[in-house]
Amino acid sequence: MSVRVVARIRPLLKLELDKDTIVEAATAGSETIGSPTIVRIPNPKNEAEAFSFQFNSVYDQKATQQQIFDNEVAPTVKHLFNGFDVTLFAYGVTGTGKTHTMRGGKTLAERGVIPRLLSGIYRRSRKTEKDTSGETQVQVTMSYYEIYNDRVYDLFEAPEKRTPAGLPIRDNGGKTVVVGLTERPCTTLKEFEQLYDQANVNRSTSATKLNAHSSRSHAILCVKVVQSTGDQTRINTASAIDLAGSEDNRRTDNGKERLVESASINKSLFVLAQCVEAISRKQARIPYRESKMTRILSLGQNNGITVMILNLAPLGSKMLALQEKIRARRDAP
Ligand code: ADP
Ligand code: MG
Repeated sequence: MSVRVVARIRPLLKLELDKDTIVEAATAGSETIGSPTIVRIPNPKNEAEAFSFQFNSVYDQKATQQQIFDNEVAPTVKHLFNGFDVTLFAYGVTGTGKTHTMRGGKTLAERGVIPRLLSGIYRRSRKTEKDTSGETQVQVTMSYYEIYNDRVYDLFEAPEKRTPAGLPIRDNGGKTVVVGLTERPCTTLKEFEQLYDQANVNRSTSATKLNAHSSRSHAILCVKVVQSTGDQTRINTASAIDLAGSEDNRRTDNGKERLVESASINKSLFVLAQCVEAISRKQARIPYRESKMTRILSLGQNNGITVMILNLAPLGSKMLALQEKIRARRDAP
């Protein structure tokens, strides 16, 4: 059982101004890429003061999608085929680059961790089949769901077909499963990308209806790798999660609905952080049963490898919130 926590600071976007920069890596420059280091965040209320956080690695503005994948995710693919479950999180305030890190843009260079992970899994599948002269067969399936207000919704289902109460979860032989979740086979990267894009439309459709819903829900992709040799099967899963924004929504919105949302977002992010901390300190008790997400992921149970990417923007929180408002207005239909 292991966990890595790394930080990624995104570059300033065109519409952002240099003078608002408040985050800087302690050791700036490309040397910081991938090496253990510290992020120093000056206190916006007192410039002479700063908070320091230690990570396993820090990726600064110059880090590419390829570097993040190669250093943090590519090594986990081998473990996935050797009996480990892999869990990848992007954690951070809305607008800091979680979706960019996980899903990424349209061009090859901009592709995020998820399509690259799948590409790695397919490459390894072909290698495994070849190395065993076809004796071992590998099958890949995916499911994709979101957790919103502590309810589970299948992203393969159109929002208007959803049961408001969401899908039930059940304990099944020590594992927690989501009952009725769609599982789709995907045998090539192209097939995966079609299914993934289609499901993401379901996420963004509800976004316009529910006011930036996507920044308030956790999107969880589960990729199951089934290796069969004769009558033996080995099943392992890679989960990649684009978490809800970690901002304190209570300050920006005061409606009752927002309060309920904030409470459940804050609770699951809090439990997640506690689990990650317990795993990194090698504590015997990991409080994964205390939130629905960590329960379904069985976080810290089994043979698990967890990588958490903390996304940061080189901006103060007020400026960041303003940029998000501008973006939301621009993207509204
Ligand atoms: P989040 O999902 O955390 O709300 P996004 O991934 O949507 O944030 O990122 C916010 C904006 O910043 C988007 O326009 C995105 O394209 C851009 N962005 C984020 N990270 C990077 C990066 N590393 N390089 C370039 N642009 C980035
Ligand atoms: Mg996002």
